[in-house]
Amino acid sequence: MNDGRRILLLATTTGYQTRMFADAAARLGVELLYATDRCDQLDDPWRDGAIAVRFHEEWRSVDAVLKIAEKTPVHGIVAVGDRPTVMAAYLARLLGLPGHPPEAATIARDKRLTRERLAAAGLPVPKFVTVPARTDAITLLDRVSLPVVVKPTVLSASRGVIRADDPMSFAMAFDRVRRLLASADVRELRDSEADVIQVEEYIPGTEYAIEGVLENGVLRTLAIFDKPDPLEGPFFEETIYVTPSRVSAGIERQIIATVAVAAQAIGLHHGPIHAECRVNKDGVYILEVAARPIGGLCARSLRFEHPDGASIGFEEFLLRLALGESMGEWHRERDAAAVMMIPIPRSGVYRRVDGVEAARAVPHVDDIQITAKADQQLLALPEGASYLGFIFARAALAHEAERAVREAHARLRFTIDPLIPVAT
Ligand code: ADP
Repeated sequence: MNDGRRILLLATTTGYQTRMFADAAARLGVELLYATDRCDQLDDPWRDGAIAVRFHEEWRSVDAVLKIAEKTPVHGIVAVGDRPTVMAAYLARLLGLPGHPPEAATIARDKRLTRERLAAAGLPVPKFVTVPARTDAITLLDRVSLPVVVKPTVLSASRGVIRADDPMSFAMAFDRVRRLLASADVRELRDSEADVIQVEEYIPGTEYAIEGVLENGVLRTLAIFDKPDPLEGPFFEETIYVTPSRVSAGIERQIIATVAVAAQAIGLHHGPIHAECRVNKDGVYILEVAARPIGGLCARSLRFEHPDGASIGFEEFLLRLALGESMGEWHRERDAAAVMMIPIPRSGVYRRVDGVEAARAVPHVDDIQITAKADQQLLALPEGASYLGFIFARAALAHEAERAVREAHARLRFTIDPLIPVAT
């Protein structure tokens, strides 16, 4: 039953994650109003009647949503994914709902502005230059020293992020990012940042992800994830996240304190945040603080418990938070959790996967979701940006959960056919 409250869910497209929110909303008895990009090209699998928005036409889209909100009042807003965060922040302000300030959401989405804010707040940041994609790469090498990371500023999920250790591989990496930015699907984003490349000094270290919420400017850490696979390049494919982190209590405190300073420097104020950092002997380097929760299906690795014994998924946690409920009494479950984003081993055409039942049978494995579709064309990093699916595990100890996702992965056999070039 619906209790009359309505939450606006802004998402790039409808998909598995929005369905998780739909389930959580149904449990909670609230209605979801979707605003999604390109939804006019999709069927309407959940008959959700999504509002069609265009994230590159922010103002028109904000206007379209406001018109609907006038007739059907909205009581909370949730943004899923990077692109909708800025629009969600504007809508929250205009509708008088809690949220991050739009200016801060804009900075958080911008890799250059984020670096500038963090540096101004006295946080360690790598030297960086942000240049038009047409720049002659070699001229940049007296401004940042090798090794460097070359990255687009418009993309996410490590897409187009390449490490280079010498001038030759730097020139090649820069050219590769330039070509990626010129590709049709990036052009389609119609983002002015699509012509910009950032070159940063490579920061060695161990990487962590931090999931948190800001409540009126005060950070509450919900989970710190270890990323146990080394992320040293040349491409930076995310694979496994495990929580709780096995980092020492001292470093954990340092990470949390640094994320809090970074969030404040960016101006984020109220709502979910997802931060990534690298830690080495010089300190905690914040890579980003996004004005949104953890992406994709990884949210499923987080569950929360109440002292009265109730247990909810992260989607329900976020919906309650968006409605203004105080979530202070909810804590991440006692068990450790691991999620593996199953990497695309090579570009090609995905045919099928075998061994799913055997993988599910691995002790502590909770669930396996294969998101690749038969006959789908797969593009590996750095040009591509997705996964074959996700493996979830829960266990008493972090290393058991990690071992479980690794073992399950080893039991999966993917058939990926090579791409056959079309003769012209
Ligand atoms: P995206 O927003 O596409 O995920 P990021 O800037 O967060 O791009 O970079 C993706 C990954 O690349 C990071 O998680 C990290 O592993 C690696 N990376 C990015 N910048 C640096 C850097 N300056 N030094 C070392 N590693 C980096």
